Amino acid sequence: MTAPLIDPFHRAISYLRVSVTDRCDFRCVYCMSENMTFLPKKELLTLEELDRLCSAFVGLGVRKLRITGGEPLVRRGIMDFFRNMGRHLESGALDELTLTTNGSQLARFADDLYAAGVRRVNVSLDTLDEEKFARVTRWGRLPQVLNGIDAAQKAGLRVKINAVALKGFNEEELERITEWCAERDMDLTWIEVMPMGDMGDTDRVGQFWSLDDVRARLAQSYTVTDIPERTGGPARYVRLEETGQKIGFITPLSHNFCESCNRVRLTCLGELYMCLGQEDMADLRAPLRNHPDDDAPVEEAIRAAIGRKPEGHDFDYSRQKAEGQVSRHMSHTGG
Ligand code: SAM
Ligand code: SF4
Repeated sequence: MTAPLIDPFHRAISYLRVSVTDRCDFRCVYCMSENMTFLPKKELLTLEELDRLCSAFVGLGVRKLRITGGEPLVRRGIMDFFRNMGRHLESGALDELTLTTNGSQLARFADDLYAAGVRRVNVSLDTLDEEKFARVTRWGRLPQVLNGIDAAQKAGLRVKINAVALKGFNEEELERITEWCAERDMDLTWIEVMPMGDMGDTDRVGQFWSLDDVRARLAQSYTVTDIPERTGGPARYVRLEETGQKIGFITPLSHNFCESCNRVRLTCLGELYMCLGQEDMADLRAPLRNHPDDDAPVEEAIRAAIGRKPEGHDFDYSRQKAEGQVSRHMSHTGG
């Protein structure tokens, strides 16, 4: 049997997030600038190369794959990739194949995703107000996303909503979004905005809405009970007793949960980031392309990279300055 991937801090790496494209049909203000320069297509790993890399990780003990981006569903041919990854679900090597999407293409692809073995999808949605939605996504339109969510639920996919908590933007929608998710039997996770990309520090700190505040606000309207569920990521969960809903909080900034981190991130260039908040990465494209018929060098490169996984990240807003900021966009590393 192959030895599992264990990092220097004794954490088993069982979760791979894969950014299959840096492109997107939206331009969310906290994620991209309006005029993005995207990677030249020839630089990208082909879907066959992505399959080979993901399969190598599965062979090394990764049990959960999350496909993300950019917007994963705008990459041409992506359904073939999902269908091919489905073989690892069938063999039992993989427990879960899932994706994070802005929902714009779900109406088109929900049935195919289900057929490929996907059972859950995370849809990012920060507001239920059409005008505000257009403002925060710049290019997105709310009805299209709501149709996508309908289609996903009809197809049998369980939908979780991810909302970025933005001070002065969706604060007053806290109860409305919560009730809307409860009515549709969808879980909801709030995410603290992170210092990614090239947006000015002042903007970002101004937008930061601590999830401790979000939780306190929820406690004014609901009975909030902590639940001990852990997924090895930066999310913590509570249950709202009145609705029975599970609410998650992803708080990479106000709390640091790196000690239980079980994940690494692969970009569409074949870079492996061992930590979302650090610059260090390993190039897996070179061993992949230099050895088209031999996976051993790729596996060796993966093991060497895991051997460098840092203990944690250095994000810190406490001095009213986004310390530990990394220069790449979220759409590059994959949120
Ligand atoms: N396009 C897909 C989507 O929007 O769901 C997948 C990629 S997107 C980069 C993944 C997640 O990252 C989204 O939920 C998005 O809201 C979040 N995100 C993007 N930039 C962020 C930032 N600066 N801070 C916190 N979350 C961010
Ligand atoms: Fe696109 Fe997702 Fe980034 Fe919004 S958060 S610009 S939908 S990649």
